[in-house]
Amino acid sequence: MSVRNWIHNRPHALEIVYQFTEWVFYRLDPLFARIGYDRTDRLIRPAEELGKKLTFDCRMCGQCILHSTGMTCPMTCPKNLRNGPCGGVRSNGHCEVKPEMKCVWGEAYERSLDMSVYGHEMTMLQPPVNRRLEGTSAWVNMLTGVDKEVPEGWVSVEELSATA
Ligand code: SF4
Repeated sequence: MSVRNWIHNRPHALEIVYQFTEWVFYRLDPLFARIGYDRTDRLIRPAEELGKKLTFDCRMCGQCILHSTGMTCPMTCPKNLRNGPCGGVRSNGHCEVKPEMKCVWGEAYERSLDMSVYGHEMTMLQPPVNRRLEGTSAWVNMLTGVDKEVPEGWVSVEELSATA
């Protein structure tokens, strides 16, 4: 088993690390705002990219939803799906595009079951990925809120439920 797989298979530990990192970023937000978010992005991005590439095979989408997808990067799905598996999952649970690879979404679901903090987010409907954020720091985008902007006309499941 590779080191990355070993880490992946500890989703609860990963979500705790994520939760702590998120807390640290929000605490440091006033400082980042003073430095400027563009400059902060340039300072943080290399370390973020290296750390997340090694750990999650991150593709730097700039809109990280790892904690909502079983600490499994949805951008590693060959179809870049953000909302669960396509209809082509093989009977052995492998990908229809890359037969040698397990379905990213099967793994994401299994891992989410071990996550007590964010596991429930697995059922959230995710908006399409914003390609304009590609290559930018997801942490900085979280602070500015640009990662939560949705396409015009998008209605989330939460909003639909509230109006029902
Ligand atoms: S969801 Fe985006 S930012 Fe997060 S690990 Fe995957 S590619 Fe990287």
